[in-house]
Amino acid sequence: MPRLHQITPSLYQLSLGGVNAFILKDKDLTLIDTGYPGSTARIFSALRQSGQDPRAIKRIILTHAHPDHAGSAAALKQALGVPVLAHQVEAPLLEAGLSGHSPIHCSPGVANWLIYQLLIKGGAGTIEPLLIDQRLTHQEILPLAGGLQVLHTPGHSVGHIALWLKQEGVLIAGDACAHLVGLDLSTVYEDRALGWQSLLILAGLDFEKAVFGHGRPIQKRASYQFKARFKAFN
Ligand SMILES: [Zn+2]
Ligand SMILES: [Zn+2]
Repeated sequence: MPRLHQITPSLYQLSLGGVNAFILKDKDLTLIDTGYPGSTARIFSALRQSGQDPRAIKRIILTHAHPDHAGSAAALKQALGVPVLAHQVEAPLLEAGLSGHSPIHCSPGVANWLIYQLLIKGGAGTIEPLLIDQRLTHQEILPLAGGLQVLHTPGHSVGHIALWLKQEGVLIAGDACAHLVGLDLSTVYEDRALGWQSLLILAGLDFEKAVFGHGRPIQKRASYQFKARFKAFN
């Protein structure tokens, strides 16, 4: 069974089989991303195993509309009766039950090609639609755990956001990039050049740790690693 893995005093990673969701713990709980469809029971059981009541979740933030991140959002919203927050550009997609705007393109490399062929290509282009209660904008700071900043980072999807918990020095990168073997591009982008520009913006910030939709956390000097890896487009 999945368990919560503590990253910083307030942030916990929850591995949901191929994709990570996150719990931000403050006075109450915020769930960041929701896994594939059917992840509700896994999320609730991981919380209970860590001594947390799932009903303490008071809001859900979605980094983007892909089915591995937003797949259980409608079910969780219904089960918990909580608001869902997403970027203003991604919100209409979620409300229409669409997982993306444009065709996605596979990043270079054999590993990406394999992941794309095995896991993504035939995957659903739709999700269960849900109402987005709060439309987020670039650089908006949510009053959670000392301030959670929204960073619009388009490219992987048009309304993709990363989240920066500045006070605790951690970036929640979503699928702006991935950390599977090493720090690298995500497997797919709608617009890779735009995605790279977003990575340069993230690399200009200062954060010690980073967590990802796919792969392991980076525990030390994370923004330095972003600068080193993404300084030149290739
Ligand atoms: Zn994605
Ligand atoms: Zn993903």
